[in-house]
Amino acid sequence: MYIIKQPSKIIFGKHSVSKYDFPENCLLITSKGAKQRGWIEYLRLKNYSLFDKVENNPSIETVEKILSEFSNTKISSIIGLGGGSALDVAKFSAAKMNKFKIMIPTTFGSGSEVTRIAVLKINGKKKSFHDDKFFANTAIVDSEFISHTPENVFKNSAIDALAQCSEGFDSKIGNFYTKFLCERAFDYLESGILNEDNEKIVLGSLFSGLGFGNCSTTLGHALSYVFSNEGISHGHALAFTTTVAHKFNDSKFYSRFLKIVKKLNFESIKLQSNSHNAADLILTDKKHLDNNPKLVSHEDIVLLLEKINSNNVLN
Ligand SMILES: [Zn+2]
Repeated sequence: MYIIKQPSKIIFGKHSVSKYDFPENCLLITSKGAKQRGWIEYLRLKNYSLFDKVENNPSIETVEKILSEFSNTKISSIIGLGGGSALDVAKFSAAKMNKFKIMIPTTFGSGSEVTRIAVLKINGKKKSFHDDKFFANTAIVDSEFISHTPENVFKNSAIDALAQCSEGFDSKIGNFYTKFLCERAFDYLESGILNEDNEKIVLGSLFSGLGFGNCSTTLGHALSYVFSNEGISHGHALAFTTTVAHKFNDSKFYSRFLKIVKKLNFESIKLQSNSHNAADLILTDKKHLDNNPKLVSHEDIVLLLEKINSNNVLN
């Protein structure tokens, strides 16, 4: 038996945001860049409150700030606008406040607009929360945003989407539906990146979110969090951690993934903390590791981290 869960409404297509009739008295949760890029104007909200201080790799304190500032105000619904960070904070806050959730991705990769996952830092360490309460009521996927995305953000997001669908395809808790979506997602994303076709990247990212969101990511994501804890952005870490994980797992996506990592040209990364301590922490991440197609030991993880540290992943 399989169960598929997703937002009750998914709206997609270029300029779909500008055609959507937003409710009054929304709280818009986003990050700093949204105003400068003209995105808030593009939403054409009637009257709204704004929280635009979501940071990269956000912490639970950001949610607490929002709750203390807005819990006692008259808000009809919460709009999350931005990358995975802004959407995760918006979903988490809206769930706590029991509000209607409208999620709008502006970078295409996290899939957060269609998943029940929110990743937040607790005591400086990234942790992923999984709960049906985090599902958006409405997700709006509008490719208009991708043309205003800075190159660095663009490539980190693209790699995240590719990592998610390919790890998802290999996940032990996958099924026919998730495998179908994850594989199609990879095809769309790969073709979109190699041929610079943004519409394909946006669709690929949506399929990826729906696919892995109904199973899980695996070793590549588990390895990435210790790098992100040291300030390396999610996609940048995945370029290396998912590559070594795919090799370890004998994933059928290994060489296609590697080819795209090379094309997007990521600077090498290095873990500052001790790899044995990092391996201990990674091994506690059961949500990812229990679904990995191969059993992973402490020693395996240390070897993979050292491979990344020795800048030996892309050869
Ligand atoms: Zn991810």
